[in-house]
Amino acid sequence: MKLEGKRIILMGPPGGGKGTQARVLQEMFGIVQLSTGDMLRAAVKAGTPVGLQAKAIMEAGALVPDAVMVGVIKSRIAEPDCANGFILDGFPRTIPQAEALEAMLEEMQMGLDAVIEVRVPDEMIVARITGRYACAKCGAGYHDTFQKPKVEGVCDVCGSTEFIRRKDDTADTVATRLQAYHQQTAPLLPYYAERGLLKTIDGAAAIEDVTRQLVEAVAG
Ligand code: ADP
Ligand code: ADP
Ligand code: ZN
Repeated sequence: MKLEGKRIILMGPPGGGKGTQARVLQEMFGIVQLSTGDMLRAAVKAGTPVGLQAKAIMEAGALVPDAVMVGVIKSRIAEPDCANGFILDGFPRTIPQAEALEAMLEEMQMGLDAVIEVRVPDEMIVARITGRYACAKCGAGYHDTFQKPKVEGVCDVCGSTEFIRRKDDTADTVATRLQAYHQQTAPLLPYYAERGLLKTIDGAAAIEDVTRQLVEAVAG
């Protein structure tokens, strides 16, 4: 089964594997990954007004205000590459964001195909987050223990030898980020279940196994 053209939301705790899976689906099916975390990090780096507003909040592990996020996603979703489907990774994260998304998709006469919860127990999250790093050049994601490059110190995708770690990926922020997830984002699970869109997969499994479950959940 193919996922071309699908519009999917990936939900799950910080470090749960959303970005990893979104990149695989983008590669396999040509549906673009819309990561609001990546968009915000680019804005911080570029020093835009959104970046200036978001920087300290992100470092603390709290959520950036809904109005800012809705503006960010609205302009991105209107770009032509989103016409071939998209995977929302990290948005929506609150009920007001979900309501704003619903309104903007309706306006564009688009619907959602599936909302997938990548479920990972809290106990696994510290290890996932503190071991995370990425290629500085192409953004490919890695992990100290769970997803090493084939050749140590060399990116599988682009051959770069430079890697980066996120400033917020410390044991200190994990509790705050998990609390934000459980308090502000988890209410979206019943919200999408009521709309008949929610499916839950086991995100504690190995990366390839999570991909298999995800493709089945969206296609099936
Ligand atoms: P993770 O991969 O750990 O889930 P993200 O890269 O998605 O984290 O997001 C990093 C940070 O960016 C969040 O902790 C939050 O501060 C901010 N952020 C990203 N997306 C949103 C959103 N939809 N609403 C509010 N804040 C967001
Ligand atoms: P999110 O986007 O949800 O914050 P990531 O996709 O960045 O999470 O994954 C967090 C870290 O855990 C990364 O270093 C990634 O390589 C690793 N990871 C992702 N999925 C799995 C998995 N199923 N098993 C083990 N490690 C994983
Ligand atoms: Zn690379």
